[in-house]
Amino acid sequence: MSETASKPETATAGLDFIREIVAADRAAARRGGRVHTRFPPEPNGYLHIGHAKAICLNFGIAGEYKGLCNLRMDDTNPETEDIEFVRAIETDVRWLGFDWETRSYYASDYFERLYECAVALVRKGLAYVDDLTGDEVSRYRGRWDEPGRDSPYRERPVEENLDLFARMRAGEFPDGSRTLRAKIDMAASNMNMRDPTIYRIRRRPHYRQGDAWVIYPTYDFTHPLSDAFERITHSLCTLEFEDHRPLYDWYLQALDFEDPPRQIEFARLNLTHTVLSKRKLLELVEGGHVAGWDDPRMPTLTGMRRRGYPPAAIRDFCDRIGIAKANSVVQMAQLDDAVRQELNRTAPRVMAVLRPLKVVIENYPEDRTEELDAVNNPEDESAGTRKVPFSRELYIERNDFREDPPRKFFRLAPGREVRLRYAYFLTCRDVVKDGDGNVVELRCTYDPETRGGYAPDGRKVRGTIHWVSARHAVRAEARVYDHLFTAEYPEDLPEGVDYREGLNAGSLERIADCLVEPSLAGAAAGARYQFERVGYFCVDPDSTPGALVFNRTVGLRDTWAKIARKQGAGG
Ligand code: ATP
Ligand code: MG
Repeated sequence: MSETASKPETATAGLDFIREIVAADRAAARRGGRVHTRFPPEPNGYLHIGHAKAICLNFGIAGEYKGLCNLRMDDTNPETEDIEFVRAIETDVRWLGFDWETRSYYASDYFERLYECAVALVRKGLAYVDDLTGDEVSRYRGRWDEPGRDSPYRERPVEENLDLFARMRAGEFPDGSRTLRAKIDMAASNMNMRDPTIYRIRRRPHYRQGDAWVIYPTYDFTHPLSDAFERITHSLCTLEFEDHRPLYDWYLQALDFEDPPRQIEFARLNLTHTVLSKRKLLELVEGGHVAGWDDPRMPTLTGMRRRGYPPAAIRDFCDRIGIAKANSVVQMAQLDDAVRQELNRTAPRVMAVLRPLKVVIENYPEDRTEELDAVNNPEDESAGTRKVPFSRELYIERNDFREDPPRKFFRLAPGREVRLRYAYFLTCRDVVKDGDGNVVELRCTYDPETRGGYAPDGRKVRGTIHWVSARHAVRAEARVYDHLFTAEYPEDLPEGVDYREGLNAGSLERIADCLVEPSLAGAAAGARYQFERVGYFCVDPDSTPGALVFNRTVGLRDTWAKIARKQGAGG
């Protein structure tokens, strides 16, 4: 299976609105006809599936138009950023199948250049040092329906501003006592243009720059300039930055950048049954609501990797949902579907029993073992076959037997014949119960003439069930996941209700004593399988040869289960 991304150059038909813009800019030879994008995460958390959308878009467009895409850490906030997150981001982008080659950048590496740009603005009379406190600045800013007021420090002479700004950098003033602000328009209808902050004083060591700086530039100032320094052509970001675009353009124009990049906004991905905000994901981790960033229930890429989602499925999902200008919420089922489709193509089939029920085949010799041929992947002939041992004592799935079968239940029941997958026809003769009346064993017979699963006399059975040989099976734990949040829209809450109250208490079920076929004994962490009739599973990193652990990646599209649910027959 190929885990890297590659897509043929597409024709212009069916392009999303961003690709249309890029194609038109290329046709008009704007910015020299170049295409250069960037993915700019802030290293303050792990990447989630929403970031995957932005990664696929930025790297995808660059790939399609023979352009380049940079990876840039947008790391100007010393409070929350960390090298752990940088490493995790790199791992996740690579895992998704994208390559920034040598173009790894850090906004914090631009601190000196950014400072010089700020000085240039001051020199042009386009920025000033303000002595108002944070509270005062907010009050002076006004409201959306009411113009702001000029700060009393707004008309400071250039020389005084230069001196004060240099002393801000030198650490002469306490945190929060002064800011550098752009001099734009306190009456602008767009609040972002009311003399936005460029630099704040903050004595906090930076994870890469250490104590080199006590002033830090804002995102709105850093981002356009970083784009310009890297000669980005199209700066793709999410819709909440639409109102910041005039400011983005203002900085680039004020600083006389030639051929400035163009910011284009697209709708962020929202998914049902989960949250996609790094702040909330961090709270779930720190509050112990999940086992960590890589908990398989998390919408993070590291969680999805652990859960067994193939990167190709995530790329395919991002392709399918497309790029639009209006916010919407995508059904989690759509992601499941992409995962299932990819795994159906690529995952080897094996037999595993999650809740074992013992079967003894009375007419099968005690000391005999047969090696039966099983197909590894019916979707992929090249995957070949393997041998599965068969013997007198087997385990089947407890819910494949009903003592009192409802209508349309075609699996095992007293007196009924079914097919054992890749093996023989089996008939249930007797039921053994414990003192409480629970079924603990089935006494059965098999038909030796039906090896391979077909009767020479042409008789048919309605059900086929999977099994493992008791003597050969390997014990394993299965972790079965459900949605992290019960509600479809966990952030749609009445006043005062915390989103954490919506966590699904049943999102993790550990099934301890599963039995899997012996070919899985040495399965490596990360390997993905289809447990026939049960679902797709992936070997967890916690797994050891003596104690296998599987994560359920996603269920099968099991038409029987659907019918069963409708009929109330149980699954
Ligand atoms: P969060 O709101 O989760 O903290 P963020 O936007 O602050 O996310 P960044 O690290 O700044 O996180 O994001 C890097 C890039 O990924 C940005 O270009 C951002 O627009 C994009 N991005 C973040 N979340 C989504 C999403 N849900 N859908 C699409 N793109 C996203
Ligand atoms: Mg951000």
